[in-house]
Amino acid sequence: MKHAHIVGFGIAGALLARELLLEGYQVTVQDAADDHSSSRVAAGMITPITGKRLKPTWRGPELAAIARQVYNDVSRQVGRDIWHDWMLRRIFREPQMQLWFQERTSRGEFDHLDVRSIQPGMHDGTTYPNGGFEHAGVATVDLAAFIEHMKSHVEFTSSIPADAKHIIWCTGYRALHHELWNWLPIEPSKGEILDVEIKDLDIDVILTNGTWILPVLESGVRVNGRFRIGATNDWDDHDPSPTAKGREYLLEQARLMTSKEITVLGHRAAIRPSTQFKRPLVGRHPEHLQHYIFNGLGTKGALQGPWAAQQLLAHMLHGVPLDPEIDCVRWWKG
Ligand SMILES: Cc1cc2nc3c(=O)[nH]c(=O)nc-3n(C[C@H](O)[C@H](O)[C@H](O)COP(=O)(O)OP(=O)(O)OC[C@H]3O[C@@H](n4cnc5c(N)ncnc54)[C@H](O)[C@@H]3O)c2cc1C
Repeated sequence: MKHAHIVGFGIAGALLARELLLEGYQVTVQDAADDHSSSRVAAGMITPITGKRLKPTWRGPELAAIARQVYNDVSRQVGRDIWHDWMLRRIFREPQMQLWFQERTSRGEFDHLDVRSIQPGMHDGTTYPNGGFEHAGVATVDLAAFIEHMKSHVEFTSSIPADAKHIIWCTGYRALHHELWNWLPIEPSKGEILDVEIKDLDIDVILTNGTWILPVLESGVRVNGRFRIGATNDWDDHDPSPTAKGREYLLEQARLMTSKEITVLGHRAAIRPSTQFKRPLVGRHPEHLQHYIFNGLGTKGALQGPWAAQQLLAHMLHGVPLDPEIDCVRWWKG
């Protein structure tokens, strides 16, 4: 049987393992079993709009369709939905956002998102000082459940087996310090997230003013009064421990959205494998041809991961050229 070995089992490793297993490969895995890895801390959100300028997410509809198909397929195997569709309400944090919204709406950029404009004022206990809008096309994926499920389909080893034909490095931001991959433009970004109780906040949508308040699901079922607040984005601090500064920032932003009492139940942090150019980084090492990388998922692993895993698989097994935007060799200086 053909054999591939994966180093690192966050969502990059788990998604690639799934693709290799579908091709009939034997898959072995090594993982540092870090409970605080980015994939285990992430909220798993997929959004079709990015940032305060409200830009449509890069290749949003195409990548979301692939992601939905992959996670729905996994849901059938797990026996419950790991994908959940949401409506999201955006609160404009400055008046200029109203203009960007109108420009993009008039160009038809949000036509597929079932958009409803929200006037300035108070709605459902939430303050909209500059107005906002509600839209569809948003989802969360239970990434922890996905990784746990995939673990039972691979074999864990403590070193790289001699007969592995392909070795794929899915080690997140730690690739930055590895001799094979330290030429790649990985720029770690720390993210912090709070698990909270907001007893009187009765909403079934995600709220965001840049920071989001996300209703909690446990095994796919809504837990009343429980939310997550996230996430910070710090490019300088590479210590994966939660900070008082991160907690205060998240609470301050959440209090701009709701005046209800917030009780913090948990606080976690992790380092994302980000890049300034905000695309996945995948491909074959230009000199060590048995070795491949799957990295750079940044803030969008849930959305970009399934597509990037399929790109890498087709390249590795069938020689299909990678999308030039994500091919790691563009960064190789020899
Ligand atoms: C607070 C926060 C919120 C986030 N929210 C979202 C969100 O809502 N939506 C979204 O899409 N993304 C979100 N993300 C980003 C998302 O977490 C990442 O895009 C994704 O998890 C990256 O996955 P990965 O598998 O590449 O890396 P990682 O999750 O870092 O996994 C790497 C794995 O490799 C292992 N490893 C490393 N080195 C070695 C080694 N030498 N040997 C063996 N194993 C090794 C590690 O232990 C780990 O298990 C968030 C991130 C954070 C921090």
